[in-house]
Amino acid sequence: MKTLIGHKDIVDQLQVRKVNNKWPQAIVFYGPEGIGKKVLAKNLAAEILCENKNACGICTSCHQVDNETHPDLFVLRPPEGKVLIPIDSVRKMAEWESLLPVVKRGKVVIVSEASGLTEEAQNALLKIIEEPLSQTCFFIVADNKNVLLPTIESRCFALRMKGLNEEQLREVAKQNNWNAPSVVDIHLAMGSALHLSLLINSNFSQFTIHCLDNLYSASIIDVIQLSQGMFEFYSGMTDGEEGGQKITENKFAIWILRLMKLILEDAARLAENQELCYFKADEFKKFSYLMRRTSRDHRLELSKELRAYELDLSLNLSALSVVESALRSFYEMRFVQYE
Ligand SMILES: [Zn+2]
Repeated sequence: MKTLIGHKDIVDQLQVRKVNNKWPQAIVFYGPEGIGKKVLAKNLAAEILCENKNACGICTSCHQVDNETHPDLFVLRPPEGKVLIPIDSVRKMAEWESLLPVVKRGKVVIVSEASGLTEEAQNALLKIIEEPLSQTCFFIVADNKNVLLPTIESRCFALRMKGLNEEQLREVAKQNNWNAPSVVDIHLAMGSALHLSLLINSNFSQFTIHCLDNLYSASIIDVIQLSQGMFEFYSGMTDGEEGGQKITENKFAIWILRLMKLILEDAARLAENQELCYFKADEFKKFSYLMRRTSRDHRLELSKELRAYELDLSLNLSALSVVESALRSFYEMRFVQYE
C-alpha cells in the first residue's frame, strides 16, 4: 500500500471526525491531479476493511484493497482507454451495493476520476448515496469540485487537498525510486507528484534547455522545426505512460513557457553577477552569453510576452502555435541591439 505523503491537515480533520463519531458517509476529495487523493481514498478504504482495523498493509484485506480485488470495495472508473464512466457501471455498482458485505466490516465505493461521470451517471450515483442499502462509504476523487452536480456536492463532505511542497515532492521521488528531481523539475511540477514523475522520467528539462540553447545558432526555419520537434518529444512522453492519465498539450506548452520564464529570472541574476537559482551556467552556454547582454527592459518585455502566451493557452489557442511564437520571441532577442 502506498504511503500518503503530505495532507496532514486533512488526515487530522478526518481523525477528529472519527473519534467524535461524525464520519461522513460520502466524501469528495478534490484538488490538483497527482497529489495523492486516490492514495488517501484507498488508505481510508483499507482502514475500514482492514482485519486489524488500522490499514496495517499486511493483512489479506489490505492487500485486496491495494490491488482493488476486495469483495467489499467497488472502484468506479472509466473502462480501460475511455474517459467517461458509463451509466452501466453505476448500475453495476448499485447492484453490488444492495448486497450484504462479504466480510461484514463495511463497504466502500471509490469514484476515481469523477470528471468521467456523465450527468446521467451522476444522477444514478446520487440516488445510491441518498439511499444506500448497505452502510456504504463513498469516496469521490475529483480534480475539480465543479465537475459534480450541486445535488451530489450538497450530499458530500468536501475536502480540498493542496499541492505538495518541495520537501514532500522530493519524498515522493525517493519513495518511488525516481532520479532526484532538479530545482526546475520541482518548480514545473507545481505540487503534483504525477507531473513530477513525467518531468523526471522524460528528461523534459534537459531536452527543453538543449532546444532553447540551440536557438542561439538557429535560423528562423529551424525555429519552426524546433517547435515541431518539441511536440514529437511530447508524443513520445505520453505514449508509454502508465495509467492513461495523459498530460495535455496545453500543460506541456505551459511547462515550456515556465521554463523560459525561469531562464529569464536566472538571466537577471546573471546580469547582476548573482548566483543562478535554477540552472547551471553551462547548461545554456550559448544562451547565457546572449542573456548577459540583454537589458532589464527587454527581459521584462519578454517575461510579459510569456505571460500573454500562457493566457493564449487558456483561451484554447493551439499549443503548437503558442510554443512556436514563444520560441520566436526568444530567438528574436538575438537581433536586439544592446548598449
Ligand atoms: Zn490490514
